[in-house]
Amino acid sequence: MLRLDLDTALAEINEIKARYTRDRAAFVKGEHLIEILSAFGSTPQSVAEFRKVSEGLPPDPTLDFRKARNGRFCLDTGAGTAYRTEFQPFILTTEEDFVRHDSGKVRRFAEIDANTQLNPTFQALLVFKHLVVDDIEIVQRPGLDYDLDKWICTAFHTRTTTDNEHTGEPALEGVHSDGVDHTMTVLLGSENMTDDSAVTRIHDMRERNATQWYDIDPELAIGQWQHRDFLDTILIVDHERKHSVSTIMRKDPTTSAQRDMLVLFTRKLTQPGHVSHEFDSVAPHPTLPMSVDLLTPARA
Ligand code: FE
Repeated sequence: MLRLDLDTALAEINEIKARYTRDRAAFVKGEHLIEILSAFGSTPQSVAEFRKVSEGLPPDPTLDFRKARNGRFCLDTGAGTAYRTEFQPFILTTEEDFVRHDSGKVRRFAEIDANTQLNPTFQALLVFKHLVVDDIEIVQRPGLDYDLDKWICTAFHTRTTTDNEHTGEPALEGVHSDGVDHTMTVLLGSENMTDDSAVTRIHDMRERNATQWYDIDPELAIGQWQHRDFLDTILIVDHERKHSVSTIMRKDPTTSAQRDMLVLFTRKLTQPGHVSHEFDSVAPHPTLPMSVDLLTPARA
């Protein structure tokens, strides 16, 4: 593994930022990202361990083809730290361009565990995303407080499975946004998927919510990418581009197919009146503490 010094890694991040700023979405190859993360504390050993963190995920509260955990982190730009916040329920609504049977429903996920959040590669991903998105000008969402130099980053860790009983849909909701400012999706692993499974498509905001990926308007399709290898990553300016993801299909139909992802949703804190305001605590987690330095990441 090529280990980058901090200046080289920051130059690489600036190149990604330039693409992200221009296109309002960007793809980063996993092997490239691993090199960048090495400047922020990720080690070969932690990379190897990070490949295995998706074993033993518990059931998702509303989707029977998915296992999931979630955890919240406050990115306190002013203080220069990111830290784990206490448990909070989760809600996404149709007003935020998320139209699904569980829109507007309060969901309680199992919590991201210490094994995942203390992994140096996970922590380096938090730092990497923050460095890419923190100072980019974006269309602001209603009800978020853009005057505060704090972000909430909600991490979703999922395994989506297709087997004889279930059809794995990485985005059952079809075309959607995630109710945040910046979405980042990272592949942790996959097994037995066909080559055309789980393609992420990027759409103009005029595309209708809940349109399935096979029904989209090609005039409003901006591009598509596919996570193929470990740590392949897509970044999306969530209130400027919608997205969809195609179904997980099995290469060998006699056994199951699965796809493990880490998704980081970053948004500003909510203002009173926002549906998530009552679930927006920034108190540190009492039993799963974690913090990582955002501004002086020269721990490598
Ligand atoms: Fe999404």
